[in-house]
Amino acid sequence: MDTEKRRVQVVTYGCQMNDHDSDRMVELLEPLGFVGTDDKLSADVIILNTCSVREKADQKLFSELGRLREWRAADPDRILAVGGCVAQGMGNDLLDRCRHLDLVFGTDQLAQLPDMVTRISAHRLRVAATEWRNADEFDFLPIRPQRRMEGTHAYVKIMKGCNKFCTYCIVPYVKGRELFRPAQEIIDEVRMLVENHGICEITLLGQTVTSYNLKNRQPGEPRFAELLLRVAEIEGLHRLRFMTGYPRDVHEDLLEAFRIQPVIQPHIHMPVQSGSDRILKLMNRGYTRAQYTEKMAALRAARPGLSLTSDIIVGFPGETEAEFLETISILEEIRYDSVYSFAYSERPGTRATSFEGSLPEPERRRRLVHLNGVQDAITTSLLAECIGKTSEVLVLGPSARDPLVLRGRTPEHRLVNFIGTAEVGELVQVSIDGAGRHTLKGAQIMIHAA
Ligand code: SF4
Repeated sequence: MDTEKRRVQVVTYGCQMNDHDSDRMVELLEPLGFVGTDDKLSADVIILNTCSVREKADQKLFSELGRLREWRAADPDRILAVGGCVAQGMGNDLLDRCRHLDLVFGTDQLAQLPDMVTRISAHRLRVAATEWRNADEFDFLPIRPQRRMEGTHAYVKIMKGCNKFCTYCIVPYVKGRELFRPAQEIIDEVRMLVENHGICEITLLGQTVTSYNLKNRQPGEPRFAELLLRVAEIEGLHRLRFMTGYPRDVHEDLLEAFRIQPVIQPHIHMPVQSGSDRILKLMNRGYTRAQYTEKMAALRAARPGLSLTSDIIVGFPGETEAEFLETISILEEIRYDSVYSFAYSERPGTRATSFEGSLPEPERRRRLVHLNGVQDAITTSLLAECIGKTSEVLVLGPSARDPLVLRGRTPEHRLVNFIGTAEVGELVQVSIDGAGRHTLKGAQIMIHAA
């Protein structure tokens, strides 16, 4: 068994159609590196595929969800999902009644499952996709108390909405325009999390957090870079991250924040979407390839060793093979740690649906597979370059697969499985002696008193 594989258990209720759908769910997740399992304890994702035809389907579902509370609470990276007919009927009510549930998706959302799982893993959202008309329409749901209470890390939402109007994206229409939380409220929430809940790592969250107060600033409110600096000063906060950045918003004040404040961690998720100027223009991204690469170079100069991750869309309407290869070449130029890659799919209500040159599905998929292969090689090579180095690691807990091995994150947001004796929440030095496809391996460096 490949130790890098993640495991998904699909528990099926009801008819053979559900059995079939359950098999499809496992298949759909395989490209993300999942294998099916019948063992709940080793699963990273559990999906309850429900059926309303049977009597008492709701009660059975809630009983099962109750039994899964401990499983979910044992690892903040796990995902608990409900699909099928009951999910379709109850939608958001399920999420409200069951706070350890991450994902509710209806019978029409099967194809979106990989997107949803990918995004939940990356952004730790809670998702009800029964009422969403669109796979890009993800919301940053309120931080749930149990997530705040667990572990070492918490997300803090700093804004909602988006003003960018990328032509493929529905978010600005369904979430509305940018709305920023007052800085003091954000600072108070972070302080509360650090002081009351032992949180030592915070990720400031929003669609384009770097746009925070960039325009239409209220008197006395800081821009994003200043907000970062103010939050970073909170005593007891060891690590500060943010997600998602917008390339055009990178200005000198953000570079300076990276230069002077080590609590801001050396990792940025900064989506490029395409390496082709023509496609970027069609996407209305607001920057050229050269402007993007210059900004990333400036960030890396401000913080040597900065790791970058990105979102990429392949198969945008009219994208030629040469333009697709420009996207491949920007992966090779930037050398992202990882990318969240998607084959373009039409979102009703967005401008791009009227664009000419729609590519056949198989071609979009071919480009996606090609791109993922290139990125996998880059990721592997970047991780291999860490071997022999020492990294500060924040201990998250025992590894999902071996309770004798600890799991933690480097400042660059890389996962490390390591041998050691540290407690959750401790910052330790780890000597990196191995690398898999997605994680590093190592051993804690023990400090002995003289
Ligand atoms: S920046 Fe573009 S892709 Fe991101 S949420 Fe706004 S419109 Fe959508």
